[in-house]
Amino acid sequence: MYSLTELGWSSFFEKQGEPNTPLVPARVAEENRSLYRILCEQGEFLAELSGRFRHEIVPRVGLPAVGDWVLARLQPNEERATVHRVLLRKGKFSRKIAGRKTEEQIVAANIDVAFLVTSLNREFNLRRIERYLTLAWDGGAKSVIVLNKADLCEDEDAATLRREMEDAALGVRVILTSAACGDGLAELRSILQPGVTAVFLGSSGVGKSSLINALLGTQQLETQAIRASDDRGRHTTTTRQLLLLPRGGVVIDTPGMRELQLWEASDGIDQTFADIQELAAHCHFRDCRHRTEPGCAVRAAVQADTLDAQRLESFHKLEKEERFLEAKQDAAVRSKRTKELRRMMKSVNRLYRDRGR
Ligand code: GDP
Ligand code: ZN
Repeated sequence: MYSLTELGWSSFFEKQGEPNTPLVPARVAEENRSLYRILCEQGEFLAELSGRFRHEIVPRVGLPAVGDWVLARLQPNEERATVHRVLLRKGKFSRKIAGRKTEEQIVAANIDVAFLVTSLNREFNLRRIERYLTLAWDGGAKSVIVLNKADLCEDEDAATLRREMEDAALGVRVILTSAACGDGLAELRSILQPGVTAVFLGSSGVGKSSLINALLGTQQLETQAIRASDDRGRHTTTTRQLLLLPRGGVVIDTPGMRELQLWEASDGIDQTFADIQELAAHCHFRDCRHRTEPGCAVRAAVQADTLDAQRLESFHKLEKEERFLEAKQDAAVRSKRTKELRRMMKSVNRLYRDRGR
């Protein structure tokens, strides 16, 4: 038995309900091919799509994803159910499937907060934070930056790095944590109020699983040390993917989310063109495209033969692809978000610039 509020139900979904039907609201906790584990007031059920729904939906994006709210008909005696509708999402995290068509795959829906985790014992990667800010923003989630492993850093240094990050990402809350010592957990909990759904994003090894375990108060998720010692052939225990925290709050940790992390981290522009990004810090215009703008440090480097002209060309090509994909998304939603995002990016870029000097 669950309370809808603790699962994240709100008036946004309430308005979409069908009160005078046998259909009840339920949240998708796990998805496995065409089977769904759903949670609702009546408990936990294994659900399939109703025949009619299956015929009517748009492939992929119309299918229920982890975090989705659905309307289902329960067969209480069998703990089985059928899903009849997916309620409109507040937001979604998705990845584009490689291929000719820009097909979208949803990895998590209805996320309120994205914790962008980085660890204090590593070089800050502002470009990566910037990408995650974009990703969270696109997903309709509020970002909170988490600087983990504070125990590995002198207090003063930690405070300085935190201040720098706060200056860089204006308006984004920054929290210092240590999954090892428990520092900052209370602050994370204060955000994870009952009904708030969160994801943890960040490179492998920064301590996402450790933080989630600390919040859960159990070792439910495997951390890296355990993952590394895992026998190849061993069947790893399946972890619950929509996790209810004992003091309220919901955390979604799906393999899709992990893939998204990998996909993001390995995604082109960021790392491949680090040299161009570095040079770009010295361009006259902040939003320099390195095409015809005056005072372009990147083209100057090409002229001086310190940067390969072909590299700049492939950079432009990749950038064009990204813009093409963006253009295909809903223009109205986009422009509103872009404005807000630009403001944020500007401040991140400023720090980038300052560090470059
Ligand atoms: P993930 O890949 O982001 O999920 O990272 P893990 O949670 O698996 O953590 C990676 C490694 O860092 C593990 O060996 C953890 O024990 C360690 N770790 C995580 N958080 C902390 C922390 O706050 N302090 C220290 N010293 N180590 C940590
Ligand atoms: Zn330029």
